[in-house]
Amino acid sequence: MEEGKAKSSHVLVLPYPIQGHINPLLQFADGLASKGVKASLVVPLRIHGDILHKVDTSSLATIPLEYISDGYDDGVPLTFDPGAYDISLQRVGSQTLGELIARLAVDGLQPVCLIYDSILQWALDIAHAHGILGVAFLTQSYAVSSMCSLYHRCALVAQAEPDACFSLPGMPPLSLQDLPKFIAQPKADRFLLDLLLGQFKNIDKADYVLLNSFDCLETGVIEGMAEPWSPKMIGPALPSLYLDSRNTRATKTGDEQGKLVNCLGWVDERPDGSVVYVSFGSLAALTVEQMEEIGGALRSIKWPFLWVVRPPYAYEQGRNSLPDGFLDATSEQGLVVPWCPQLEVLAHRAIGCFVSHCGWNSTLEAISQGVPMVAVPQWSDQPTNAKFISDVWKMGIRVEVDEKEVVRSGELERCIREVMDGETGAELRENGQRWKKLARAAVADGGSSDNNIKEFVAMVSRC
Ligand code: UDP
Repeated sequence: MEEGKAKSSHVLVLPYPIQGHINPLLQFADGLASKGVKASLVVPLRIHGDILHKVDTSSLATIPLEYISDGYDDGVPLTFDPGAYDISLQRVGSQTLGELIARLAVDGLQPVCLIYDSILQWALDIAHAHGILGVAFLTQSYAVSSMCSLYHRCALVAQAEPDACFSLPGMPPLSLQDLPKFIAQPKADRFLLDLLLGQFKNIDKADYVLLNSFDCLETGVIEGMAEPWSPKMIGPALPSLYLDSRNTRATKTGDEQGKLVNCLGWVDERPDGSVVYVSFGSLAALTVEQMEEIGGALRSIKWPFLWVVRPPYAYEQGRNSLPDGFLDATSEQGLVVPWCPQLEVLAHRAIGCFVSHCGWNSTLEAISQGVPMVAVPQWSDQPTNAKFISDVWKMGIRVEVDEKEVVRSGELERCIREVMDGETGAELRENGQRWKKLARAAVADGGSSDNNIKEFVAMVSRC
């Protein structure tokens, strides 16, 4: 590829405006920039302060931001309604996205392509209306994407019996509790079901399809399901720093980053492999009962813990609250933070296990750092990711939940013990190291994902 040619191609990258979608699309944009493509990230004005300060700042230094509106420029209301938000995002977002593309053309920065989060399927029409390529980017695994696509073609569950077993090519036998929650319980989460199935409405019209996973992680599923929209796997889309064999700490500045570094300072003081890292991502909001049980488990283990407890939004009242007296009782043993630089934490020598909700980014991040997991899936695609973590990649164990779908403290404690110093733990760590090498090989020069990215860059540079 000619360097100069790629540089003249301007590419817009449009994530769904939540953390777990911004992170991989920003990292992909950063990867394109490192290959000479001019990539800009398009976000709603509203999220500038709220979400962007939590992403890897080194990537933001190289990727310019462009803004659209989601109709909520002054912030989301206390009574947040995701359905109403989505309608507004589509209506106002598509109008302002069209205006942005037109303005960029006038300014001599005409984009040749719009890489849009596949959840924002309406963006494809905007790209095509402006005569540019529309590239769908899927932020979930190939397996989950296939399940959604299959459901969309009306072939998966409808009213399944509770003990039903699903057999899909290339996948382990799946029970109802292994399917994405919005598929297993469609009535309980109609909004998410519509949003995720919507990705496949027009995917056959996309000019290119990218997916944040890597070939050898999902070989069986790729061969078994052989999706007609044949995505190119480009992951794991993470800052290259964490895929490099030398894991040095990123330099951060500013007050906000200062707090995060303090949390790393605390981790620095712990022995190798001794810390239990607990995080449920950027969206899950746990009930009081579940928080009590997690608190109970952490109090009773002998290892230090780092627990990320995301402060609840106003509309999540009562959720994610720490058990009474927890901080005082555990101040010697653990640290609770509202947010941490997760990749840096996972890459740290002191981390022994990751108690995770199994969001797809967290899963890829744990795989890329070889950290064994205790899988505590909550909703969305997390049950399926948990199934693959435990039964396919054998990098973690999944907790059992009771009839109220709560994981009890004794069960969580048992799983943490098993991973930290049980027989299974040693095997999981070994597998983790294997996956870590494979993840790095995929994005290294000449690896499967790297080749797919190069092919994509060559295609863009011809536009
Ligand atoms: N994350 C982080 N610090 C935290 C918690 C989460 O940096 O304290 C990042 C994490 O590294 C991941 C993203 O937020 O990249 C969460 O995405 P994921 O798909 O795992 O879960 P979601 O938040 O979408 O449920």
